[in-house]
Amino acid sequence: MDQAIARVARAIECAERILVISGAGLSAESGLPTYRGIGGLYNGFTEDGLPIEQVLSGPVLRSQPALCWKYLAELGRACLGAQPNAGHLAIAELQRRKPQCWVLTQNIDGFHQRAGSPEERLICIHGAMQPLYCQSCAAESETLEAALRGGLPPRCQACGGILRPPVVLFEEMLPEAALEQLYSELGKGFEVVLLVGTSASFPYIAEPVLRTRQAGGFTAEINPDLTLLSHSVDVRLAGRALDVLVNLLSHISSH
Ligand code: NAD
Ligand code: ZN
Repeated sequence: MDQAIARVARAIECAERILVISGAGLSAESGLPTYRGIGGLYNGFTEDGLPIEQVLSGPVLRSQPALCWKYLAELGRACLGAQPNAGHLAIAELQRRKPQCWVLTQNIDGFHQRAGSPEERLICIHGAMQPLYCQSCAAESETLEAALRGGLPPRCQACGGILRPPVVLFEEMLPEAALEQLYSELGKGFEVVLLVGTSASFPYIAEPVLRTRQAGGFTAEINPDLTLLSHSVDVRLAGRALDVLVNLLSHISSH
C-alpha cells in the first residue's frame, strides 16, 4: 500500500493538470450514507413502499411535491447536520498546491465548498441542495435550513409556488453549465485523474478516466471495494478515502 501511495504521489507531484473525481464514499466518513456500495442507503424501498428512484424524481416532485420533499428533507437534514472530513480538506489543500487541479463531484452535500475547494475549479455534476429556488417564478429563496423548519413542501414567498433545490433528481438532465465546463476541461486534457469513493456507474465519470488513460495519462482509484473502473486504472488504493487522502497529501510537497 505504501509503495502504491508513493507512486500516486509522484504522479501528482509531476503533473499540472489534475482531476479529482469524488463520490458518496468520500462523504461516507462524514456520516452521510452512500447510495450503492458499502453501507448503501437505498438498497431497499422507502417506507412509502416506492423505490427511491421514483420518490426522488423530477416527475414526482411536480406531481406529488410533499412526497418528494419528505425525502429531500431527509437528505437536506443529513447534509446540514454533518461536516466535511479530512479527506475533503486534503483535496482542497491539493488544489491550493496545484493551481490546475479540478474537482468533479457527484456529491450534493456542499462539503467540497465548505472545505475550501475554489468554486471556479469545482464541477458539481449532480447539482447541490442549496440555494432553493421557486419552480414557478424562479426566484431564489430562503436557506435550506429555514425551509426545513417550516411546513413541507416549502413555498415561495413571492408567488406561493413550490421551492426546490438545484439538485439533479432522477429522470432529470444534468446541469448544462457543469457539463460544458467538464467537457471544455476534458478537451484540454488531464495528466492525472484520481477517483475517490465512487462506484463510477455513470458514463461521464468513467469517460475522463478512460480518455486520460488512452492519452497516456495516469489514473488511480481510492476505494475499499472493486468498482467498474478498478481494472482500468494504473493504481488501485484499496482503503478508506479519509486515511488514504491524508497519507497521500503527506507525500506531496507543499510548493
Ligand atoms: P455510490 O453510492 O454509487 O458509490 C459509493 C462508493 O464509495 C462505492 O464504490 C463504495 O465502495 C465506496 N466507499 C464506501 N465507503 C468508502 C470510504 N470510506 N472511502 C472510499 N470509498 C468508499 O456513490 P456515487 O458513485 O457517488 O454515486 C451515487 C449517487 O448518489 C450520485 O448520483 C450522488 O449524487 C448521490 N449521492 C450523494 C451523496 C452525497 O452527496 N454525499 C450521498 C449518497 C448518494
Ligand atoms: Zn415563486
